[in-house]
Amino acid sequence: MPVYVYSCPECGTRVEVFIRRIGGEPPGRCGHCGATGLERVISPFAVMRNLASQLANLDPMYRRRIDDAIARTPEADPMRLLSKMTPFETASDPGDPIDF
Ligand SMILES: [Zn+2]
Repeated sequence: MPVYVYSCPECGTRVEVFIRRIGGEPPGRCGHCGATGLERVISPFAVMRNLASQLANLDPMYRRRIDDAIARTPEADPMRLLSKMTPFETASDPGDPIDF
């Protein structure tokens, strides 16, 4: 069921109207000034986006705030974990593989 946006030709007030069926009746009068002849306005619609495109469209300031927050959180630093790992060539031999 669509939601249509109507604009008042007298005062410019916009109103969203929930229409129960396509081609349903528009509102009769402007709720603000009482004028008739409300005109339907093409309204923007929501676009489903995947997470990757949402992240690509993030505001650069938002990214900076996230980077700042990570910088203030030592547990979030990936280098902290890497520094605790043992390089493969210096690790002790773990023995024979385990049969499952
Ligand atoms: Zn009006």
